[in-house]
Amino acid sequence: MHELTLMEALREQVLEQAKRHSARCIEVIHLRIGSLAGVDPEALEWTFALVMAGSPAAEAWLQIETVPARCLCGICASSFEAEAGSCRCPRCGTASNRPLQGLELELASLEIR
Ligand SMILES: [Zn+2]
Repeated sequence: MHELTLMEALREQVLEQAKRHSARCIEVIHLRIGSLAGVDPEALEWTFALVMAGSPAAEAWLQIETVPARCLCGICASSFEAEAGSCRCPRCGTASNRPLQGLELELASLEIR
């Protein structure tokens, strides 16, 4: 399962940062997820509890910020917001394969104690 692998990678990142800052406990984990990243936020929250169990992040609150997808049209060079996963240029109707944003899947910040 895709989300499980992602969450395990995230746990490594989070625990490493917590260790570096001598945190006893992690309170909030802020994630940025692009709408084209192919991740289901509900599945992420579910795997979060599973993966973080028994770690200093077990009680942490997962906050997910969704980044809307934007694409650049290769024909008329306009940039536009992609809707429902479709990157079709509203100006000339060409399907764009150049996402500018929306593929993010990153740890934005941590609140630790
Ligand atoms: Zn266009």
